[in-house]
Amino acid sequence: MEDLTLHSPLTALPGVGPAREKALAKLGLATVADLLACFPRDYEDRTVREGIDTLPLEEPVCFAAMVAQPFQTNFLRRGMDLTRGRVVDATGQVDVTFFNQSYVRTALVPGETYYFYGKLTGGPGHRRQMTNPIFEREGQRTFAGRIAPVYSLTAGINAKFMGKLQQAAAGCVDQIGETLPEDLRRDYDLADAAFSYRTIHFPDSWEDLRRARRRLMFEELFCLNLGLTLIRGRRSSQSAIPFEKQDLAAFTGSLPFALTEAQLRSAREAATDLSQPVPMNRLLQGDVGSGKTAVAAACAYLAWQNGCQAALMAPTELLAQQHGKTLSSLLGGLGLRVDLLTGSMTAAQKRACRQALEAGDIDLLVGTHALLSEGVEFRRLGLVITDEQHRFGVGQRAALSAKSGGDQSPHVLVMSATPIPRTLALMIYGDLDLSVIDRLPPGRTPVETVLIGEDKRQRLYGFVRKQVGLGRQVYVVCPAVSEEDSEGMKAAEQLGRRLREEVFPNLRVAIVHGRMKAADKQAVMAAFAAGEADILVSTTVIEVGVDVPNASLMIVEDADRFGLSQLHQLRGRVGRGSHQSYCVLVSDNRSEMTRKRLKTLCATTDGFVIAEEDLKLRGPGDFFGARQHGLPQLKLASLEGDMRLLRQAQEAARDLLARDPGLTRSEHAPLRGRVEDLFRENRDIFN
Ligand code: ADP
Ligand code: MG
Repeated sequence: MEDLTLHSPLTALPGVGPAREKALAKLGLATVADLLACFPRDYEDRTVREGIDTLPLEEPVCFAAMVAQPFQTNFLRRGMDLTRGRVVDATGQVDVTFFNQSYVRTALVPGETYYFYGKLTGGPGHRRQMTNPIFEREGQRTFAGRIAPVYSLTAGINAKFMGKLQQAAAGCVDQIGETLPEDLRRDYDLADAAFSYRTIHFPDSWEDLRRARRRLMFEELFCLNLGLTLIRGRRSSQSAIPFEKQDLAAFTGSLPFALTEAQLRSAREAATDLSQPVPMNRLLQGDVGSGKTAVAAACAYLAWQNGCQAALMAPTELLAQQHGKTLSSLLGGLGLRVDLLTGSMTAAQKRACRQALEAGDIDLLVGTHALLSEGVEFRRLGLVITDEQHRFGVGQRAALSAKSGGDQSPHVLVMSATPIPRTLALMIYGDLDLSVIDRLPPGRTPVETVLIGEDKRQRLYGFVRKQVGLGRQVYVVCPAVSEEDSEGMKAAEQLGRRLREEVFPNLRVAIVHGRMKAADKQAVMAAFAAGEADILVSTTVIEVGVDVPNASLMIVEDADRFGLSQLHQLRGRVGRGSHQSYCVLVSDNRSEMTRKRLKTLCATTDGFVIAEEDLKLRGPGDFFGARQHGLPQLKLASLEGDMRLLRQAQEAARDLLARDPGLTRSEHAPLRGRVEDLFRENRDIFN
């Protein structure tokens, strides 16, 4: 124990053997340092209060009381027992009941005093009661009498044990180096590191806790900002081939439609960047179906006009194929040679493609991650486009950029259909400039969206038959793969089978989910796209977009299990053709908040309105939570609520980098380490 350091494995702590080590690993914890950085998700006020008979009912309270008589256990039935007893203090007594915790019979010793924490119940004239309280023996308390941290737990690690671990780890807080320079802490009134780490786990007062949280949040935002600014700075020190020729007339003239105002604006913004000798780094954000591909094509056209190659990377094979087809038809007639490179091609096909690429016989290469593989060399790569950016990390973008085949970096265009409110986007994609396509092309019929309960299921199935009868296709999305581990949620495997065998025996029902092999998934989706299935039962694997214009109905099972933005994304799978399309959200959840969320979706098809609403209702944590963005996950800071702190952190980062642009001064070494840590997955920011 005496050698415990921040780097010690958790097995160095008392009570942690292989089983608990594994359970802790599930929480992402491997070392003492991890433990200290695992902040409570909430706190409970366990200030010890006096007088059982005067304490308020129905709210959590902590008090001391003596066990008046031995606790007794009754076995009610299999898997259910009750242990009861009575505790007293100077003012009164409480009947205490535990369900399925018969060990308390020996743990609670008559005549001894314990601290109890829980809710008192019982009306006037009745004795006070308490069910399943938390208790600690006097003289051995961890949490009683204080503000108690509440941690995220997992099977095998209960609250008490986690508290003990944190207490043991707290012995190492003084080893945590201070990352924030002293003058900065003074200017922004920030607590020091050791205090903050100790206090966030075991606060002595709510005011201390506020100070600790503020410091740690500031540090998080500050480091995020430093990292992003360094990434941006590295870019402006790079050079790119300027696309000086900027004539899009032939391109726009050959399109089967007129570009919308929003598409034109985005294309112009990109073209201006592309004309510069520094790499463009632009995020093109547009709702599903807003026509991002045409803007990407315009950029690829400019690359070609300026003697450069372009690459487009998509997150799935099918999507790459679809892009390949679309872009060939948009650009092929203008003289661009468009080719495809995906993992499923044969070795010979890949080799031929690589050779053509190196020889400069391909102008636009569309593909999957295969584009990143070794041996893929461009002759003169001037532009990299990635679609559905949230599936790629910053590092992967950088890897593709590194393939330019010269000293110069390619321009980068990132396309995303995740509608993120602007303030948040600037933070998340802090290293990118932003273009937004905020209007859909004309002539779209909005998807009609309704929310129904289980009672309407038969009618819904009737509607499915009708749509299929009209020659349309139907998506059914479930929140889970298999009922074995779905915790009661609708699962694709079982629902799919039921629909195929019992409900629609005459229709063709296909099933696809994330646990299938990639090749099998591709095959099922391709078959659906080709019209070889009427109904596709799936998980959210279909979220990122293949175009099946003939699909006119999307059913989302247990719709309350999805985020609003995700539902919007899913809904974008229909309404891509000329038919009136429908989205049916099935949910029996009666919670007012949930119904309000789902009703938002019924009321609007504007992705940005939906995202704002989602943000308001769920808070921004979830935008980061899923780790979709390839950027560091913030533990504490929530951007919307902490705008002031965010601005302060931004200002502080700017000031610091003005004095030490590369963060290379020795006194900033700890800070630099912290930034590197935060951007662990993007190690390349410093070189
Ligand atoms: P997304 O932004 O979701 O990638 P796409 O680029 O796939 O959208 O475009 C969706 C559909 O809209 C495509 O079928 C495309 O041909 C069509 N489209 C794009 N721009 C226009 C436009 N200006 N006018 C009419 N249709 C358009
Ligand atoms: Mg698209």
